[in-house]
Amino acid sequence: MQTVSTPAPATGTLFIVATPIGNLDDLSRRAEKVLASVDLVAAEDTRHSGRLLQHLGLNKAMWPLHDHNERERSGALLDRIAGGESVALVSDAGTPLISDPGYVLVRAARQRGIRVVPVPGACAMVAALSAAGLPTDRFLFAGFLPVKTVARSKVLESLSREESTLVFYESPRRVVALLEDICNTLGEGREVVLARELTKAFETWYSGSVTDVVDALRADAHSGKGEYVVMVGGSPSAGQARVAVDADRVLSLLVPELPLKKAVKVAAELTGVPRNELYQRALELKDQ
Ligand code: SAM
Repeated sequence: MQTVSTPAPATGTLFIVATPIGNLDDLSRRAEKVLASVDLVAAEDTRHSGRLLQHLGLNKAMWPLHDHNERERSGALLDRIAGGESVALVSDAGTPLISDPGYVLVRAARQRGIRVVPVPGACAMVAALSAAGLPTDRFLFAGFLPVKTVARSKVLESLSREESTLVFYESPRRVVALLEDICNTLGEGREVVLARELTKAFETWYSGSVTDVVDALRADAHSGKGEYVVMVGGSPSAGQARVAVDADRVLSLLVPELPLKKAVKVAAELTGVPRNELYQRALELKDQ
């Protein structure tokens, strides 16, 4: 009698698949092929991603994998991959793990020696930076900042000396509040670029000083809806910081001539140094 032994299944692959952020044509051909080839699609929202699969004519087994169950379900998902199945991780839009679930899964996969393969594509942060006209040689992506203004301002304060271009995600409900906090912590001299509804029919860009952009948002009846990437020019570099040293001179000239708040406002505009930093120094000068 001949016995046929079944070979142990080879380990499968975990694909991290980027999906469009608005325009379905941005799904890559490779992403489509990978989605068609895998045994299972792990999705942040299975109903949402189910519509994308339906649009592609694919009928796939799906697993919900989101912030609330990722820790608990990653092990079982990786067991299936270790058993030979291949899995695609997708989020609602853009690149998984970029302000989206997946970190716990990918980390655990790498720790278990499972092959993790990125399938790159749309990412709102990269799309926004690529067309904003701000320096892109160095940037700092900070995702969503805290919702409450005190906590948000604390994070912004910690970034006030950062020379890289700053990139944030923000909801339309909080975008003006974020800009007001940017004005108070980083100074109103900073250049700001907002990208709204990227790749969609009503893609809109706002740029200028923080106050210009707040005014433009207030004047635009559509600004309260849609998705935003907020980009802020970095702090002046060490070379340019000589201007900041001169802030002291500017203040010492303005404080005797103007009401304190006005002196601080004008000095902030002229030097780009945040108002709260100048205010303390202005008080000292006034007392002298
Ligand atoms: N993983 C996604 C990516 O790769 O960009 C980001 C997911 S995060 C939960 C969603 C945020 O991304 C939105 O609140 C918005 O700040 C930004 N975003 C997503 N799509 C966008 C678009 N079409 N235009 C502008 N911002 C967008």
